[in-house]
Amino acid sequence: MRIGLTGGIGSGKSAAAHRFAVLGAAIIDADVIAHQITAAGGSAMPALIQAFGAQICDARGALDRAAMRQRVFGDPQARARLESILHPRIGAVMREAACEQEGAYLVFVVPLLVEHLPRWRPQIDRLCVVDCPVDVQVARVQARSGLDVPTIHAILAAQATRAQRLAVADDVIDNSGDLQDLTRQVDALHAKYLRLANKN
Ligand code: ADP
Repeated sequence: MRIGLTGGIGSGKSAAAHRFAVLGAAIIDADVIAHQITAAGGSAMPALIQAFGAQICDARGALDRAAMRQRVFGDPQARARLESILHPRIGAVMREAACEQEGAYLVFVVPLLVEHLPRWRPQIDRLCVVDCPVDVQVARVQARSGLDVPTIHAILAAQATRAQRLAVADDVIDNSGDLQDLTRQVDALHAKYLRLANKN
């Protein structure tokens, strides 16, 4: 059984995924794979260099993320080109990794799952959303990264809304409380997923 775990920036996806991992679930994280394929020698690098030029590489040949961000900022065509290179490759690596898993269920962690729902929905059995109020997201991102509030709001504006995510969720983790509260909810979902997986 495959679970898609998503939520807005700072909602607590990584914290929830960490708890699922502690409980023994296999975790396949889209962000981790995005970093792997854009590291020096990564499988996406030849296509990225062909599309955008060697100036998007750093000295070691890895993707220079700041340069790439600058390149696609305000250029939807360039952004679409970047996504058309990265997304199919990330998806392929995730599917491959999923085939190698043997546990009762696995968790795909995908920040923009709801934004790309038609692509993801067929790949997952259940969609689990980590949810919390926007002001809590902003405060947690600020504490974690030191980004300024307007930048955090700009990132939030480019993502799906809470309502859009909740509308398509099978399971919701309410992460407006403390970490103990989050742990308790993930533990309950883990028991539920084991039950569902054993029924299949
Ligand atoms: P995401 O992966 O969705 O961007 P994270 O899991 O990294 O979010 O959480 C954002 C920040 O908030 C992290 O520093 C994390 O440790 C913290 N955090 C997450 N959930 C809670 C919580 N329930 N209480 C306090 N801090 C939390």
